[in-house]
Amino acid sequence: MTRHYDVVVVGGGPAGSTCARLCAEQGLSVCLVEEHGAAGIPVQCAGLLSMNAFKECEVSECCILSTVRGARVVSSLGPVLEFDAGMPKAHVVDRAALDRQMLQKAANAGAEIRMKTSFFTRKGDCIITRGADGRREIPFRILVAADGARSRIARVENMPRPPVFLAGLQVDILHRIEQSRVEIHPDASPEFFGWAIPIGQGRARVGLAGTRNVKDRMTRFLAQVGQDSHTVEVHFVSGTIPLGTMARTYGNRVLFLGDAAGMAKPTSGGGVYTGVRAARHAARVIGEAFLRNDCSDALLSEYEKSWKYDFGRELELGMRLFRIRQGISSADMSRIIAALGDPAICEDIVRLGDMDRPGALIRRLLMRPSLYHLLGILIKTEVCRIYKE
Ligand SMILES: Cc1cc2nc3c(=O)[nH]c(=O)nc-3n(C[C@H](O)[C@H](O)[C@H](O)COP(=O)(O)OP(=O)(O)OC[C@H]3O[C@@H](n4cnc5c(N)ncnc54)[C@H](O)[C@@H]3O)c2cc1C
Repeated sequence: MTRHYDVVVVGGGPAGSTCARLCAEQGLSVCLVEEHGAAGIPVQCAGLLSMNAFKECEVSECCILSTVRGARVVSSLGPVLEFDAGMPKAHVVDRAALDRQMLQKAANAGAEIRMKTSFFTRKGDCIITRGADGRREIPFRILVAADGARSRIARVENMPRPPVFLAGLQVDILHRIEQSRVEIHPDASPEFFGWAIPIGQGRARVGLAGTRNVKDRMTRFLAQVGQDSHTVEVHFVSGTIPLGTMARTYGNRVLFLGDAAGMAKPTSGGGVYTGVRAARHAARVIGEAFLRNDCSDALLSEYEKSWKYDFGRELELGMRLFRIRQGISSADMSRIIAALGDPAICEDIVRLGDMDRPGALIRRLLMRPSLYHLLGILIKTEVCRIYKE
């Protein structure tokens, strides 16, 4: 006999696992389907999580590879900005291990997990899956779309997709970098940036994301970063980062969260924090829907209000900065990096810098008289952008 579920979650990444766990903890019947045979594989992440983001995941420390206290921002034209907060600011994690733990916790809470089971389409109150058990119909009352950047559910439901998709490439190489800092290389990929992240034992995670020529840029970047090292690629990652949250994240008894909704931060590409926060909002609203026996759009719209109140403004500001970034030349970037090197400004960065919520720092920096000339660069870039559009 076919079992009916209160909630069916598609996707066993951080967003899906968290939502499944929190719904199961409220006593709801939950089924999570995941197309792969193991959580978190293939890895599509650099694994850099702020201390807060790591805490939100509620996992043990055994997936931590290294811990960083600061950053080094390097311009190809010379200037380098370095800062060290003197305290742990972020963990670099093994994403496969993190996802595995999160999914295991959902199962422990009572969610039924079906691996190697892929969402194919929706037929009324059921999803149709394909996979290890052949074709199945799984009835639901609420469907959670946590199926990542290329969300099939969003396509089947005809939802407007995020406006920007970045392609990301990354390799783990044998390479010695300062273990307490991440390196950011804006010129490695002019629409976004490149990174080199310490992962312990003389290894680094080197990658970049962008909209064009990503493969060629990566070859050049690797040659530049790894020129004095043994660049044996021991782990290759490729993935997509959706930017710009979709116009509506609920409807027709479906809630969209994490990458499926385009919730990655446009300033960093990080999406674990926002995905898990969105999952918390979704689980709370789902609990309410069952309490009131009301799965209408009117009630589910509370989900969108709730995540927007939490981090919607940060994503909006991030998207504005991302658009401005598109017009910043290497020469302007080098001026910006040099200007931010002022010790008082570095102090602001250390005090207010928050990977997940950069708004407070940006507002503070815009008030610093010594940075007024940077406003000229930003205004010029914005005017050029508007003119081109
Ligand atoms: C190169 C790169 C580096 C990144 N670095 C960072 C970083 O350092 N920090 C950070 O916070 N974020 C980073 N991100 C972004 C981060 O990986 C994502 O934002 C995050 O994984 C989103 O979580 P999610 O649960 O929404 O989706 P995902 O983690 O993508 O999970 C979606 C799950 O759904 C499954 N799925 C998809 N389609 C179906 C289907 N039809 N049926 C069943 N299951 C399906 C997938 O197999 C997957 O397990 C990076 C991304 C890339 C590409």
